[in-house]
Amino acid sequence: MQFKNIIGHENVKNRLIKSVNEGRISHAQLFLGPEGCGNLPMAIAYAQYISCQNKTTVDSCGECSSCVKYEKLIHPDLHFAFPVATSAGVKEKPVSVNYISQWREANMEQPYLSLTSWQAKIETGNKQLLISKNESESILKILSLKTYESEYKVMIIWHPERFNIASGNKLLKIIEEPPSKTLFILVAHDSEQIISTILSRTQLVKVGQIQVEDLQKELTKKYGIEPSIAHKIALQSDGNFINAQKLIEHSELDEEFHELFKTWMRSTFKANVPELIIWSEEIAKTSFGREKQKQFLKYGLHLFRESLIKNYGNSEMERVADNGVKFLTNFAPYIHGANCIEIIELFDNAFYHIERNANPKILFLDLSLKLTKLLRVEAPAEAE
Ligand SMILES: [Zn+2]
Repeated sequence: MQFKNIIGHENVKNRLIKSVNEGRISHAQLFLGPEGCGNLPMAIAYAQYISCQNKTTVDSCGECSSCVKYEKLIHPDLHFAFPVATSAGVKEKPVSVNYISQWREANMEQPYLSLTSWQAKIETGNKQLLISKNESESILKILSLKTYESEYKVMIIWHPERFNIASGNKLLKIIEEPPSKTLFILVAHDSEQIISTILSRTQLVKVGQIQVEDLQKELTKKYGIEPSIAHKIALQSDGNFINAQKLIEHSELDEEFHELFKTWMRSTFKANVPELIIWSEEIAKTSFGREKQKQFLKYGLHLFRESLIKNYGNSEMERVADNGVKFLTNFAPYIHGANCIEIIELFDNAFYHIERNANPKILFLDLSLKLTKLLRVEAPAEAE
């Protein structure tokens, strides 16, 4: 990981680089910042910079033998400790080294790793991820070995919030007085959850949220999004790159669902059965998938509810994407007190049966035909 691949935080990068070049590398540091801010890649970039054989005043070279190993997270002097639990593959006393290949993979796929996606990656179910006493012992053992290739041995501890008193206490001495040329980097989101004895032994490097302009630039560059939309997403995502990515994926899906829904409703209003059959075949395709079918039903429900809200009061429609507003203005009058309950039940039912492996082609056609009837029900007088 090079500094140039981390979004924003130029001040932090400059300060870190300067400290290395002035020989001020403190042996225990806490890279603190909220989820999705990039404090983990920042810690890795910092360690890579220290170890690089050909560094410049702005970044590591990315090409020397140290950098090549760092890019794959396989440098023999780079170590990680992170929260784990037992899983199908690791039945007892789980420690980070058991999961190192998943860790590398997860970081390659998403350097802005979240604890939630890490948990999914190692398939530990709902078990609480922890840094245990066994982990602390493993850290001590690793750090007692001599360095292989670099001047420094680096131990990056991700989510030190997950130490308990016993596991944390085992490391106090070594964090306070590490063997020479040993560097601890703790990467955390919430300093209040770190046991105080560890916290007080570290020097703070505050990473913080990604600035809106920096995030906007990255989204425009990486996803080719219009600057104005990128700006909106950057604002909504609280300086969290993971949130921003989710928002983008969501809006793309919204677009697809919106088109699909529009076509569907048009055929339904016309009661055009041949069109509805084609439409049902389309959505029943296996390439569409059951999960997506479920999401689409949720999307439909959401639009029906918004239509009701529009008809009976709040006309702001803040919760609908831009493309949906015009459509809803025309569509909403058809959803009212005389049919809404049945429509919602219909969708809830469809959702229930999709989850239980009903044939989607029959299910969506049946749903369409029932809707054809329900949308023709006249609105009660008071809603006119
Ligand atoms: Zn290098």
